[in-house]
Amino acid sequence: MAEFYDVIVVGSGIAGLSFALKVAEAGHRIAVITKKNSAESNTNYAQGGIAAVTSKKDEVNMHVADTLVSGDGLCDESAVREILRDGAASIDQLTERGVAFTQLEDGRASLGKEGGHTKRRIFHVQDVTGKVIEEALVKSIEESPNIDNFEHHFAIELITSSKLCKHEGRKLDEEDRVIGLYALNTQNDQVETFAASAVLLATGGIGQVYQFTTNPFIATGDGIAMAYRAGVEVRNMEFIQFHPTAFYSKDSSERFLISEAVRGEGAILRNMKGEAFMEKYDARKELAPRDVVARAIDSEMKETGARHLWLDARPIPKKKLHEHFPNIYEHCAKQGIIMESDMIPIVPAAHYLCGGIKTDLNAQTSLSGLYACGEVASTGLHGANRLASNSLLEAVVLANRGALSVEKYLSIAKGEVTVIPDWIGGNVRDSDERIVLLHNWDEVKRTMWDYVGIVRTSKRLERARTRIQTLDKEINDYYWNFKVDESLLELRNLILVAGLIIDCALQRKESRGLHFITDYPEKNDAPCDTKVRRKL
Ligand SMILES: Cc1cc2nc3c(=O)[nH]c(=O)nc-3n(C[C@H](O)[C@H](O)[C@H](O)COP(=O)(O)OP(=O)(O)OC[C@H]3O[C@@H](n4cnc5c(N)ncnc54)[C@H](O)[C@@H]3O)c2cc1C
Repeated sequence: MAEFYDVIVVGSGIAGLSFALKVAEAGHRIAVITKKNSAESNTNYAQGGIAAVTSKKDEVNMHVADTLVSGDGLCDESAVREILRDGAASIDQLTERGVAFTQLEDGRASLGKEGGHTKRRIFHVQDVTGKVIEEALVKSIEESPNIDNFEHHFAIELITSSKLCKHEGRKLDEEDRVIGLYALNTQNDQVETFAASAVLLATGGIGQVYQFTTNPFIATGDGIAMAYRAGVEVRNMEFIQFHPTAFYSKDSSERFLISEAVRGEGAILRNMKGEAFMEKYDARKELAPRDVVARAIDSEMKETGARHLWLDARPIPKKKLHEHFPNIYEHCAKQGIIMESDMIPIVPAAHYLCGGIKTDLNAQTSLSGLYACGEVASTGLHGANRLASNSLLEAVVLANRGALSVEKYLSIAKGEVTVIPDWIGGNVRDSDERIVLLHNWDEVKRTMWDYVGIVRTSKRLERARTRIQTLDKEINDYYWNFKVDESLLELRNLILVAGLIIDCALQRKESRGLHFITDYPEKNDAPCDTKVRRKL
């Protein structure tokens, strides 16, 4: 018999935990399921901060205008207005939950500036904003009597009423809805069944689909893959934000982020000859939107065959470097780079997914009872390119709105279904075959980096599609025949998500925002979303 909760929350980053706390405060019973320890999330690595308008010199309308410019004609303007309006309230909420944002000596908030923002409006805690937010939220859920926290539980598959009917040989006589999920307990290798009236997917991004990424290992697109397999609408997957400045190391594929805020404080991009080059590409120079800066770096690197370029933080006063960027300073120093005297070697790296599971402004997806928020979701805020520091804000706002919406849903939800069949999995383990799986991890990441990167062509996208289709056949064979483990499940999801990115990229016959394709260098007159949805 499955254990029943009012709501299952998958993911323990800013989105999942903010939502869980709100719904638990209303008296509902929540299970938070997370695949590693609670703190391991993209949230934990966020540096720059969270954008919100509070200063008298700023206006929400200006924040809206900056977001629309960055989104390059594809934002949903009403979503942008509604979400950004709640910026100040979100900062208050995080402060109440224990986040002490950095202040100036006179007690006012220290507001950072980042690319694409016309005003200083980035709340931060030095350069470890995400870590401090994550610690505060994890502490709050540990103290909540209504929340059970399942660490080291990997959500595998959503269970829907249509799947249950199919299993029982019955006809579905109601609207399809989510009724629970299967999760692998990675500490004892058992698949457990969870039943619930509603499920929130807050599984974060997809950075690990690329060879080089700023994202931690958890970012394998699991929520998007689960939703897609359940027939839920997913959109605009081609819009992958490559962060322009990740630390380059020739010995590792890990890419530590050098926050945009460093450029915001005056750091300059230089080519291998030491020349500043951004002026050639955009009048806003170092503070142009990320897609513009990433493409400029890509172009400079291709022109000269350089493996990396330089970020020159020497114009920033030493005191500011130490006060604002202690974490970045320490990382660079460990690699032998002293920021006030040396330039930092940088390259672009996959950073953020602007598309995802389509939701309304109540975090509701196209499947009844299934909610999504945070990086996994697509609300229309980011359009074709996210404005820096809008994602943490979106996660908090949508978690709040989603919590209100799920409470209404619970008050009218159909009865609980606890008689759900147990998971039936393959039993075979074969170490020889598992080596092939390791190669496939490598192949999917390289294929995406080489063929579906910052600058695309139709021919390369088609090539990528052929390779990913072959990998997809192989992984599904493993999935149905072998005993599942985390690595196999993640690879299956990564391959599926890679396919969705390519499908959306091939649908878009124009260059817009983060999608730059040389066969179609212009924008279409009537921008529209790309969509992928599995027919059940
Ligand atoms: C280096 C870096 C710096 C950034 N800096 C900023 C910034 O300054 N400002 C800003 O606004 N944004 C920033 N971002 C983006 C921002 O951090 C993320 O978009 C945001 O934190 C996403 O929050 P989330 O709750 O949606 O997902 P996450 O924080 O990624 O949490 C996802 C959770 O889901 C869990 N999970 C995933 N799959 C499963 C599964 N199958 N089963 C169970 N659990 C699962 C994960 O373990 C994790 O707990 C940055 C991102 C990175 C990587």
